[in-house]
Amino acid sequence: MKYISTRGDAPALNFEDVVLTGLATDGGLYVPESLPTFTPEQIASWKGLSYSDLAFKIIAPFVDGEIPDADLKAIIDKSYKKFRHPAIAPLVQTGHNEWILELFQGPTLAFKDFALQFLGNTFDYILKKRDQKVVVMGATSGDTGSAAIEGCRDCDNIDIFILHPNKRVSDVQRKQMTTVINKNVHNIALEANFDDCQNMVKASFNDQSFLPEGRQLAAVNSINWARIMAQIVYYFYAGLALGAPSNKVSFSVPTGNFGDIFAGYLAKQMGLPIDQLVIATNSNDILHRCISDNDHTKKPLLHSLSPSMDIMVSSNFERMLFELYDRNGGAIKQLMDDFKSGVMTLEQGPLAKAQALFSSYKLDDQEMLDVISDVFNKTEYLLDPHTAIGVQAARKTRRSQDVPMVCLATAHPAKFPEAIQKAGQSEEPALPNHMSDLFDREEQYDVLDNDIQAVQAFIAGNISA
Ligand SMILES: *Cc1c(COP(=O)(O)O)cnc(C)c1O
Repeated sequence: MKYISTRGDAPALNFEDVVLTGLATDGGLYVPESLPTFTPEQIASWKGLSYSDLAFKIIAPFVDGEIPDADLKAIIDKSYKKFRHPAIAPLVQTGHNEWILELFQGPTLAFKDFALQFLGNTFDYILKKRDQKVVVMGATSGDTGSAAIEGCRDCDNIDIFILHPNKRVSDVQRKQMTTVINKNVHNIALEANFDDCQNMVKASFNDQSFLPEGRQLAAVNSINWARIMAQIVYYFYAGLALGAPSNKVSFSVPTGNFGDIFAGYLAKQMGLPIDQLVIATNSNDILHRCISDNDHTKKPLLHSLSPSMDIMVSSNFERMLFELYDRNGGAIKQLMDDFKSGVMTLEQGPLAKAQALFSSYKLDDQEMLDVISDVFNKTEYLLDPHTAIGVQAARKTRRSQDVPMVCLATAHPAKFPEAIQKAGQSEEPALPNHMSDLFDREEQYDVLDNDIQAVQAFIAGNISA
């Protein structure tokens, strides 16, 4: 399987190289040259498979034998071992045909563990095989950082540097990152917002001359194809549990960088009968405006109670645009160049396709808080703020009560105690046992100015020999 750039002007790569690369040299993102598809009979035959066995079925065609099957299976098994729940991605019912897919049972309590446990183990495998070392540099709006650190902390061949916006992640999120005191783990609190962090990472990938000889950057953000790939699995897992492929199923996805919902789109293209895909956004609603009004205009970033979705420019939307424009890399390059002005307008054809594929809905903080209390009062089930946005978006846009609606629960409520209290729940949600001493652990991180030279010098000075 070859991987190609969304901007049509970078060398095609194989799977292992695509895992170790961030952006393509033309600034685009890598996508598989063709998508594997599965027949309804094949999908039906997977009913009852464990999460890891199903993951192997779905991931193997993308790896295409580059990692021998037995090794790939071992990587996958190891990646889902640290999840607390035996179902890995359990479903909980909160309404008529309305389901919560709990994607927060991994080590850092957010869905990002699904991809980053797998990515860390895959990095480790490839780097050991090649006797190579890399520098992981990533930006986080809160959850990617801890999941990436947890995935990479035990990899001897990786130095990991994570940038988070100073004072703009929750205390739990920060402590999950900064209490990992391994020599190869470095946290940088940047005096900036998340988009600035993401831009600094992108610029560093584009010019890596600040690194010592022989080192390259590897990406843990969802520009890394392997992250998207690993996330396709739970769409199939939930679908199979709720009657696919004979029955259709719908999904609602709290969306920030468009990685998670893009994986849902891919699951649909690969053969899962998905009816609706709902893009749920907070007040940073550029995707909702784009789908509903063709208004993809950058606005100032707002700080909400769902901080992991406080993103204005969704990097993975470019992968979606590539599909909407019939994989025309030249058109995407043009569109992204135009977007440097802050405005992007889709052509009618691609827009109509997007509107047929996605529903969208936006919630502000107060509406989100009302959903947390409403669902808790009726079911005693506590949603985290991101998940609550997905639940309400599903309720508002749902076309059929006969089709199961799966709301992706992207984080555990204990990560966001402030929002839970504001929603009127007097008891703080407890952290799971393995983390109950989080607030007693020692923290270590560096606060740096929003200055790329300073950050790159810090990184260069802290890389292991
Ligand atoms: C990262 C994250 C999101 C957004 O996911 P994307 O793939 O960036 O769209 C939503 N909720 C939580 C809790 C997250 O950590």
